[in-house]
Amino acid sequence: MTVHVVTETVTTVDPITTKVMKANKRRNTGPELTARKMLRELGYRGYRLDWGKAPGRPDIAFPGRKIAIFVHGCFWHHCPECNRDFPKKRRDYWQAKLERNMERDAQNEAKLEELGWHVIVIWEHELKPKALDATRERLKRELAPYFASAEG
Ligand SMILES: [Zn+2]
Repeated sequence: MTVHVVTETVTTVDPITTKVMKANKRRNTGPELTARKMLRELGYRGYRLDWGKAPGRPDIAFPGRKIAIFVHGCFWHHCPECNRDFPKKRRDYWQAKLERNMERDAQNEAKLEELGWHVIVIWEHELKPKALDATRERLKRELAPYFASAEG
C-alpha cells in the first residue's frame, strides 16, 4: 500500500465566488505558503505567522525587525491590477464588503507604520509562477536593508 504525504501544496485559486470561500482562511493558503517558501529560500528565517501582537495580525512578521508582511488574496482585498471592477452578480453586496476590507487594510497599514513597522504587501498574483522572479527580487530589495546585520 502506498502512502501519499502531501506537504505544502501550492494551488492557485481563481477569483470565482465558489472557490473563494476556501481562500478566505487566514493561513495556509497556497499563496501564503509560496511566500513563506520564498522567504526561506532567500535566507530570511525566524518569521512568525499571524502575529497577533501587531495591528492587523500580519500573515508573516519579523517582530524583532518590525517587518510585517501581508499576503493578500486578489479577490478579497480587491487588488487594483486583477480586479478593477466589482463582481457583477450581487454587485452592491460585494462592493460594500470589499470596500470594507480595503478600508481595514489601509487602517492596519497606517497603524503599523505609526508604530514604526515596515509593511510589505504581497499580492496573490505576484506569487503566480511567471511572477515569482520579479517578486523574489522585490522582496530581496525591500528586506535586505533590515537584515544587513545578519548577513556575512
Ligand atoms: Zn492581483
